[in-house]
Amino acid sequence: MLDFNHTSSFAERVNETIDAALTAENAARIPRDYLGGSRLGHACERALQFEITHAPKDEGQDFSGQLLRIFAIGHGLEELAIRWLRGAGFELYTQKGNHPDGGQFGFFIADGRIRGHVDGIISAGPEGFSLAAPALWECKTMNAKNWRACVKDGVTKSKPVYAAQIAVYQAYMEASVPGISAAPAVFTAINKDTAELYHELVPFDAELAQRMSDRGVRILQATDAGELLPRVAANRDFFECRFCSWAERCWNLPT
Ligand code: SF4
Repeated sequence: MLDFNHTSSFAERVNETIDAALTAENAARIPRDYLGGSRLGHACERALQFEITHAPKDEGQDFSGQLLRIFAIGHGLEELAIRWLRGAGFELYTQKGNHPDGGQFGFFIADGRIRGHVDGIISAGPEGFSLAAPALWECKTMNAKNWRACVKDGVTKSKPVYAAQIAVYQAYMEASVPGISAAPAVFTAINKDTAELYHELVPFDAELAQRMSDRGVRILQATDAGELLPRVAANRDFFECRFCSWAERCWNLPT
């Protein structure tokens, strides 16, 4: 018999069913066998090695339904940002060619072992902006605290991993979109809590791009040689380690 008095239990059951479907869908995805350009700025090289070799995550560290929903909401908000920027007069391309199946813009280097997909390319801004183009467009969603830090300090200081991604993408996209590294990238951050938007022009940082590119090569070479790169920290309480999906595995190793 249906129990109409227990709405919370109904909600829980629906959510469990949704999350089971989401986690099953995620588990069926073929895992990346390359180093994502967006990951190159991650603080720990060893964590990136665990990631690209698909080392099993510690117990309870697989993506939960909630985390998968957070990712999906981020993608949904990015679609809205595209619509808002286009509505404001930015010529923003997110697919190659005019066809929706044209594929995302991206790069494929080191025999495809380092790859990235860009959120978009701006070919012109609205009148009065004198925007240099073509410009890389990167969009991120953040909670209010991170968004405020980004507005206050800028993306390079508040989110170095995003700054590294932008620099790497500008460098690697130059071959297919000539001039993209000469124009500052347009970075958009969406405050998920308040719907406020922040935009920043990020000039190309060639030194950062080179450093990240060298890092990618070093990670791939060490992984191929079966060599584990050093930990990012000397003790397990370090911020990155506390949130790392391989902390047990990592700190149980002798070095
Ligand atoms: S636990 Fe810390 S040192 Fe080990 S892989 Fe993770 S982030 Fe790196």
